[in-house]
Amino acid sequence: MYEGIVQDLIDELGKLPGIGPKSAQRIAFHLLDADDAAVRRLAEVLVNVKDTVRFCEVCGNVSAEEKCRICSDPRRTDEVLCVVEESKDIVAIERIREFRGRYHVLGGAIDPIGGVGPNDLRIAQLMSRLGSGETQEVILALDPNIEGEATAAYLSRLLAPLEVTVTRLASGLPVGGDLDYADEMTLGRAFLGRRAV
Ligand SMILES: [Zn+2]
Repeated sequence: MYEGIVQDLIDELGKLPGIGPKSAQRIAFHLLDADDAAVRRLAEVLVNVKDTVRFCEVCGNVSAEEKCRICSDPRRTDEVLCVVEESKDIVAIERIREFRGRYHVLGGAIDPIGGVGPNDLRIAQLMSRLGSGETQEVILALDPNIEGEATAAYLSRLLAPLEVTVTRLASGLPVGGDLDYADEMTLGRAFLGRRAV
């Protein structure tokens, strides 16, 4: 344990994803050694991002405006809706340049061990979007891991009674990881090879 505020810094850093106690300590001492201006810039970016970035009121993507750039783009079609876990998955799918529909961000995946249930995700918003009747296909582009599988199974059951085709990405994505771990070609192939569930 370090004294006061240094330990506070290590504790806060240790709460970040992928940062263990050793890394938290290393980053804390890096910041203590770094020059004032650099640390101040980091602090400002952290505060600004929380103050200014919001989530698109339609799809849940991170956005600078009420509606994100994808939701406000008139050249995209409402007929295909791609359901993803996080905003970063949108970035991965946009990179393959195959998709011209809209997205819906769930904000995570069903994870009973981690205490995340269907009500913690933006599933009600998804159902109300589908209620407008414009969507013909829903693509479940969820992570190829246990939580993604559980979420896809749950959504497939929920969407089954609707007049909409539900598809999933073809297999071939690296199992156990995040969607955005896959390289563009693999993800592109999984996207184009999607099949109905
Ligand atoms: Zn949006």
